[in-house]
Amino acid sequence: MSEDISVVVVGSCMTDLVSQAPRLPKAGETIHGHRFFIGFGGKGANQCVQAARLGAKTAMVCKKHSKRDHTSKTGGQVGRDVFGNDYIQNFKNNGISTAYVEQTENAATGAASIIVNDTGENAIVIVAGANMLLGQEELQRALTAIVNAKVLVCQLEINPDTSLQALRMARENHVKTIFNPAPAIVDLCSDFFKASDVFCCNESEAELLTGMSVTSVEDASQVGLELLNKGCGSVIVTLGPQGCVVCQPTNAAPKHIPTTTVTAADTTGAGDSFIGALAFYMAHYPTMPLEEMARRANFVAAVSVQTVGTQTSFPFQKDLPTELF
Ligand code: ATP
Repeated sequence: MSEDISVVVVGSCMTDLVSQAPRLPKAGETIHGHRFFIGFGGKGANQCVQAARLGAKTAMVCKKHSKRDHTSKTGGQVGRDVFGNDYIQNFKNNGISTAYVEQTENAATGAASIIVNDTGENAIVIVAGANMLLGQEELQRALTAIVNAKVLVCQLEINPDTSLQALRMARENHVKTIFNPAPAIVDLCSDFFKASDVFCCNESEAELLTGMSVTSVEDASQVGLELLNKGCGSVIVTLGPQGCVVCQPTNAAPKHIPTTTVTAADTTGAGDSFIGALAFYMAHYPTMPLEEMARRANFVAAVSVQTVGTQTSFPFQKDLPTELF
């Protein structure tokens, strides 16, 4: 079965607990909010969902909570926490293989408590929980899927050592890698650059990783070249409504790929939509120029920003123009 899987994501899954309120509460204060909803998030899972919705056969390698059910006579029955269980169902609803969704009794399923005020500002506490326990053993169990995939995608919402190991496993087996250094860490190990066929980051991540300021397409081009020099195969710097910049060693100059002008309703998860789409194109159109893949990924992400929500805003293949496929 794992031979069919074209995109494997080794990364995080998080339950978003979102409260909308007129303003953000101060320390020690309790205020009334006007809406609450639970969403599915985590950068890894988001990217996997977008790739799957475009038509890629995908598998998610991640870790969630599971609790031993002490009421069971055998003691071996596993009773799963509601968030982990719901997430499994969400993966299944999106056609994602859950064969490598692992469980632990030692930590909660990752959760993000999010408060959004009426002007769209937010305050977020992320508890990575079980995501941080994804490691060597789980990668070994997913080895067949990883080495037979066309594309492997990693981020930094899990233990960075696990991400790096997954990227190396893929690279050693000629599987293309996309690395998204998010959330960015200042002292990123230089091996991450060398293990990335495509190193894809946003402006703030690019700034943190290079110490250079990124406020324009020209800045993004400079920073892209700087990252390319660190050993990546190619670099893409995403620029929100300005699209992205693609830097490749074979091309003399970085290329700005603008995107369509749209009215954004909610840009949360736009970067994940872009990366999920990129993974789909790299897996399904391996000879397509990276700049064209980036142009199409821009389009997919621009569709996602026009609807509120994260995964709920990610388009399916059937909702997109046929020329994208
Ligand atoms: P987020 O953290 O909100 O998920 P990000 O900061 O990682 O996003 P961005 O660079 O903001 O990533 O956006 C990623 C891609 O999404 C862009 O390259 C672009 O294709 C698309 N995009 C984002 N915002 C807009 C917008 N307002 N209009 C059109 N496209 C957008």
